[in-house]
Amino acid sequence: MGKLDGRVVLVTGSARGQGEQEARLFREEGAEVVVADVLDEQGRALAEEIGALYVHLDVGVEEEWVAAVREAKRAYGRLDGLVNNAGILRFNALVDTPLDEFMQVVRVNQVGCFLGIRTAAPELSDGGTIVNTASYTGLTGMAAVGAYAATKHAVLGLTRVAALELAPRRIRVNAVCPGAVDTAMSNPSRLEPDADAEETTRALDSLYRKLVPLGRIGRADEVARLALFLTSDDSSYITGQPFVIDGGWLAGVSVI
Ligand code: NAD
Repeated sequence: MGKLDGRVVLVTGSARGQGEQEARLFREEGAEVVVADVLDEQGRALAEEIGALYVHLDVGVEEEWVAAVREAKRAYGRLDGLVNNAGILRFNALVDTPLDEFMQVVRVNQVGCFLGIRTAAPELSDGGTIVNTASYTGLTGMAAVGAYAATKHAVLGLTRVAALELAPRRIRVNAVCPGAVDTAMSNPSRLEPDADAEETTRALDSLYRKLVPLGRIGRADEVARLALFLTSDDSSYITGQPFVIDGGWLAGVSVI
């Protein structure tokens, strides 16, 4: 028996990274999965490999959300879960951040999450789930990622309000708050075909050894396991909460 048998779950930004691991794990646990992304070639290849449906979805575009949810229901007859995972990161000091860049990050991370909740919730089965992807920076500050941190704080606000508003239909809404995770976002060398992924992971592990109590960068499959917990009945009495998965980074600092 899989933890998601009989359920249909749409995962945004799932052509690669954490979303990809979520799509793979949810399939292994018996769900029908809708892989949604703007990276059509990668998304289609993944969907084909794992036996999922691929839909092109730019999470910032209202009409594409409507089409994606319609497509999911046409293919599988129902929708039980949504993982708002798509996100982008830009580095800049706040005083140097052009408005266009700020709005670009808001459009994907914040508007994307809002549109996902607004479009999918009315179509979700009663008892369904929404998992929003916030961040460690949704709960604390980090220099040079002001636009990103602002949107991730907003994702937690959306999570709490949606949890309250959707509880009468037993739809649970929670958020994952990853620290640094070894995907293209924190490890851009993953996008270089010739880079040695294991070597760059080792380099990142040694960098994070100084920052993170558990002494390494997180892995995408670890976040996927948390998303599975929040999408399955294992978390049946939990809603409206942020779940930090950061190797202890947010716990505090050590002075010795
Ligand atoms: P990633 O860059 O590998 O994956 C992001 C995915 O989102 C990609 O597949 C990308 O194509 C997709 N995407 C980007 N813009 C989109 C859009 N407009 N519409 C649809 N899809 C779009 O990085 P990741 O680490 O897998 O990121 C997943 C989520 O986790 C993001 O929300 C990110 O902010 C969050 N996060 C990542 C880290 C980290 O260190 N990697 C830490 C905390 C939170």
